[in-house]
Amino acid sequence: MSASPQPTPLETVTVDTPKVSCDGDAASEHPRVFLTMGPRGYVDCPYCSKRFVLQEGTHGGGGH
Ligand SMILES: [Zn+2]
Repeated sequence: MSASPQPTPLETVTVDTPKVSCDGDAASEHPRVFLTMGPRGYVDCPYCSKRFVLQEGTHGGGGH
C-alpha cells in the first residue's frame, strides 16, 4: 500500500488564467473568493478544496 503524499482535491479545474474566482456551490456557505496561482501553476480553494490548474502553454494576459 502506498500512501498519498497529500489529500486528493475534490475536483480539478483547468483554467487559462492565473487569477481565478470560486464561489463553490450555491447551497454551501462559500463566499466568493479570488485566488491567484503562485509559481507552482495551481491553487487550491480553501473552502471547497477545488484545485485550479493553469493550462500548459498559456501566457498570462492576451485577448479576452
Ligand atoms: Zn471553492
